[in-house]
Amino acid sequence: MNKLEKWETVIGLEIHAQLSTKSKIFSGASTNYGADPNTQACAVDLGLPGVLPVINEEAIQMAIKFGLAINAKIPKTSVFARKNYFYPDLPKGYQISQFELPIVSNGHIEIETENKKNKTIRITRAHLEEDAGKSNHDEFIGFTGIDLNRAGNPLLEIVSEPDMSNAKEAISYLKKIHTLVCYLKICDGNMQEGSFRCDANVSIKLKKQKELGTRTEIKNLNSFKFIESAINYEIERQINVIESDKTVVQETRLYDSNKNETRSMRSKEEANDYRYFPDPDLLPILIADETKEAIKKSIPELPDVKCKRYQKELALSKYDSDNLTSNPDIADYFEETIKITNGNAKICANWIMGDLSASLNKKNIAIKNSPVSAKMLGDLINLIIDKTISGKIAKTVFEAMWNGEGNAISIIESKDLKQVTDSGKIEKIIDEIITENSSQVEQYKNSSDEKKQKLIGFFVGQIMKKSKGKANPKQVNELLKEKLDN
Ligand code: ADP
Ligand code: MG
Repeated sequence: MNKLEKWETVIGLEIHAQLSTKSKIFSGASTNYGADPNTQACAVDLGLPGVLPVINEEAIQMAIKFGLAINAKIPKTSVFARKNYFYPDLPKGYQISQFELPIVSNGHIEIETENKKNKTIRITRAHLEEDAGKSNHDEFIGFTGIDLNRAGNPLLEIVSEPDMSNAKEAISYLKKIHTLVCYLKICDGNMQEGSFRCDANVSIKLKKQKELGTRTEIKNLNSFKFIESAINYEIERQINVIESDKTVVQETRLYDSNKNETRSMRSKEEANDYRYFPDPDLLPILIADETKEAIKKSIPELPDVKCKRYQKELALSKYDSDNLTSNPDIADYFEETIKITNGNAKICANWIMGDLSASLNKKNIAIKNSPVSAKMLGDLINLIIDKTISGKIAKTVFEAMWNGEGNAISIIESKDLKQVTDSGKIEKIIDEIITENSSQVEQYKNSSDEKKQKLIGFFVGQIMKKSKGKANPKQVNELLKEKLDN
């Protein structure tokens, strides 16, 4: 029996999503990314004596919005707690978090498994907390730099039940949550900048065994690819440990992407006792039903609903719909182009998932910064639909628009790319090609149907070349056959 068949994997994830508020969760300092070290840490973030935290109302609203979107419970009362531990980038000596009464509890989302089945993943809780600062071990020899710009950034920690059974399911869940927080506009989802990161808890057990195995926690993973590799490495490692009659120890591990392995960071014995207690500087949060109602109304059409609508109303495939709804900016762009093209959904989908995506990926540009706007692409598509240009020439026009040479109309004019549909002009070119290739014409007349088809391809190629790609291909085919067969 294959090793993996005997064992069952159990995974639970803790996601940290940075909420996109302008200021920090308990102070007025900016949350902008990338400023010079320690230029965005105020007295509150530094934990100076005598300062008092003031809750950022927007962070609370964003957390509630998330809770409502995952069908969770939003209790009337929620409380901030101090989580005590010592670390150089945590100046207060405690982190303000939530413990017993989180703002969101008992939600769930649906994911799609590898064999295309729906599976419910339960979300135990989501709580608000402040981020810590950053220790920079790489830049100075013999020193560690402390940057407190991040200290006090608002985080929503989303904790799942151990409901996932392999790395693929974990990634599917993560992508679902990632898409959701982006749609809700509560997190920018930027994984490189650490706005969306995850700790993966992994254990294995024999299939017939009821109770869960001992888990390890892999810390601070910030790319889908690394998360998948880290989990798979950890599953293998744990199976090997148990099969060589040793026991898995509960510990925190770090993933090294260069070596593709996880390494022990600290064991449970060294784990902190956080001595949680309610923060006396912050009042409990009381959430009125009217507040929840108002926030509920502000929730946009969510990805699952949108994806179903695209299939039903726009007759797109599940594949196309999944792709186009995977990110709210792509969906917005797509919806703008279909408006401009009067509902020609399929051709818009093809252009967005084809030429546009390829160009964006190549240059690593986000769709909302695309040099070709939805309006520009929509206008181009209209010119294909009304046969001003062929689909092939449109690719040339797209490239020119991408390179900043103007909009479709002006490029078509300046490069003289208009499709030739005047049958007189097309016939003239066909006649020239026929005269220039008299031996192929002779061959054609004496050939089998199969061979004829090949020769037609040859002639069409020559004609298109001569017309610089501008002759209408359908007309070329029709007129050419007429001439050759007579
Ligand atoms: P802690 O606060 O120590 O991180 P929690 O009980 O809050 O512990 O669990 C953290 C995460 O670990 C949750 O996502 C949970 O689903 C997951 N988890 C708990 N037990 C296991 C297990 N045996 N195997 C895999 N994941 C687990
Ligand atoms: Mg944990």
